[in-house]
Amino acid sequence: MARAERERTGNATPNAGPEPRRRIPSVDALLRSEPGRRAIGTFGRPLVKHALSVTLEQVREAAEAGAMPPPDDEILARALALASGTASGLVRVINATGVVLHTGLGRAPLPERAAAAAARAGQGYVDLEVDRESGARGRRSTRAERLLTSMTGAEDALVVNNGAAALLLALASLARGKGVLVSRGELIEIGGEFRIPDILAASGARLVEVGTTNRTRASDYRSALTDKTALILKVHPSNYRVVGFASTPSAKDLAAIARKADVPFVYDLGSGLLERVPGATADEPSAADALADGADLIVFSGDKLLGGPQAGIVLGRAELVERLRRHPIARAVRVDKMQVAALESVLAQHAHGRGSELPVWTMIREPPAHVRHRADALAMALDGELEGAHVIACESAVGGGALPGTGIPSFGVEIRAPEPNAMAARLRTGSPSVFCRVTERGVLLDLRTVSPEAMPDLVRAVRYALEGDDLPDD
Ligand SMILES: *Cc1c(COP(=O)(O)O)cnc(C)c1O
Repeated sequence: MARAERERTGNATPNAGPEPRRRIPSVDALLRSEPGRRAIGTFGRPLVKHALSVTLEQVREAAEAGAMPPPDDEILARALALASGTASGLVRVINATGVVLHTGLGRAPLPERAAAAAARAGQGYVDLEVDRESGARGRRSTRAERLLTSMTGAEDALVVNNGAAALLLALASLARGKGVLVSRGELIEIGGEFRIPDILAASGARLVEVGTTNRTRASDYRSALTDKTALILKVHPSNYRVVGFASTPSAKDLAAIARKADVPFVYDLGSGLLERVPGATADEPSAADALADGADLIVFSGDKLLGGPQAGIVLGRAELVERLRRHPIARAVRVDKMQVAALESVLAQHAHGRGSELPVWTMIREPPAHVRHRADALAMALDGELEGAHVIACESAVGGGALPGTGIPSFGVEIRAPEPNAMAARLRTGSPSVFCRVTERGVLLDLRTVSPEAMPDLVRAVRYALEGDDLPDD
């Protein structure tokens, strides 16, 4: 059938399936084709077959909606792009968003030493759970826990897979079947399906809402306490702030109320600042402050302001930590050896008083004038090829729910583009891949989160995105 005729048929009867569907090739036919066989050589048969099935399903769906099925070589090309993207695994990207703890891009970049420790642990055997002297079986996170207690003064510590797991474990261990008091202003969603009411429900604890969204008083907690109350939970609102006519009792007040009622006070800090450091605003609670204020148990993430790998850290009273440690969920959410190795390394750096040298903190604290040097260098490198690129002042964000509402003065290069989203997509899919911000006029590359070492790659990637495939790698 002539192409024009097929199109006519398709247009006239958009849902007349049989006509466009008939010419959709089978998975087997494409696998047997010459390009299909070559792809099997490159990616392996299971992956190519899967990619073809997925692509053909999309083509079939589009055909049912009346679209013309594309030619076989285009179907193959789409399937191969999918197979190739899967086969290449995680790809290194340049983060020019200015968001330091970007969850989509893997949150805290590790210092080289910690990354090397993780790689070593991954590659060979390590004394993960054995005492080398006695040969006796130990716990995998003992060293990290010792570093944590020695730095914070907490009685005991426990390390699990991530912050959400730490909170789930705490609630399941201490509050199953009983009530947990939480302020209505703290029933938050962090993103990625982490919602406080859902975690509470999953743990088997019963949520008891206290106060209102903007104001919760100490007396609200007192009057909500019953003999069915397991604990008082405070949650750092992380990525949002209630401003204006708003108030909530301090951690100190809640600790006093909990102590009087003889129930634990558990505080989910979120981002895990170990102690006050320059660059952290006053409303970002630190572990040291929370413990000093009387929290019985605190939980936080390893890959936010602590600057380490994904992990969930629990600190507090020995008797409570021990109840968490013995709970079956603890085994289900344990850390793996590579996490342990990286975390030990990062904690050791904190213990040496060099936490501010961790990549997360050097990025947060770098003076705007220094960031500007890189912005100038990028604009200069693009000059001549691109008239619309210029340096502008902008604001970086810490991200990851840490230091909400605190922008960090920064500098970036804005590139004018008639279709900013298309430009951003070209940058993301280029080589190397670059993530940027989209503005009304174009795209913005915030240089705060781009290391000096990544600058040549960034220049190359931006030129590539601007000029297309035929640009030589110079
Ligand atoms: C980020 C965050 C969590 C979740 O921690 P993950 O390590 O991402 O699982 C929990 N609570 C608060 C307050 C947070 O900010």
